[in-house]
Amino acid sequence: MTVDAVPSPVRPSSGVQLAVYPGSFDPIHNGHVDIILRGARLFDRIVVALLRNAEKVPLFSIEERIDLMREVFRSQPNVEIDAFDGLLVDYARQKHASVIVRGLRAVSDFEFEFQLALMNRRLSPEIETVFMMPAEPYTYTSSRLIKEVFALGGVVSGLVPETVERRLREKRAGGT
Ligand code: ADP
Repeated sequence: MTVDAVPSPVRPSSGVQLAVYPGSFDPIHNGHVDIILRGARLFDRIVVALLRNAEKVPLFSIEERIDLMREVFRSQPNVEIDAFDGLLVDYARQKHASVIVRGLRAVSDFEFEFQLALMNRRLSPEIETVFMMPAEPYTYTSSRLIKEVFALGGVVSGLVPETVERRLREKRAGGT
């Protein structure tokens, strides 16, 4: 192993270290918010990138998710909300990002995340994947579980931002 074998991370001429945090965020919950805020402290800028067409029938449309997330992070100037199609590494390159951020909840996430990170490294060796753990109360939170619990009448306060909880209630009341 030589030092040259490890490619240097992308360093844009601006010197700004930018990270991309991809996901479906349908809807964003406090585990995601926790990771994004940690990322915003670690990197100059973090782009939260919604994957289009990830789920065939999402609860919230891409536009609704973008609006919700912009509302949640309106006071965080270094958090950008965007959406992308296609390969994540192509999108990251296009944004001049040097880092892909992923959240790890438990060992159950590890296998999939490990495969994904190594595949992304194979596709784009200069982009590094960084894993972050959320605060303990959010280690079991997932968008799928939030949707299921809410649909069955369970309380999701404290697990999602207030604005998301409000939109969930509106959706249920309006049937939209
Ligand atoms: P979910 O699994 O909640 O549907 P996404 O598919 O949108 O979320 O996941 C986007 C990223 O956020 C992934 O890296 C995922 O591991 C991470 N993530 C999801 N939930 C949590 C959580 N509670 N704590 C930390 N990271 C999380």
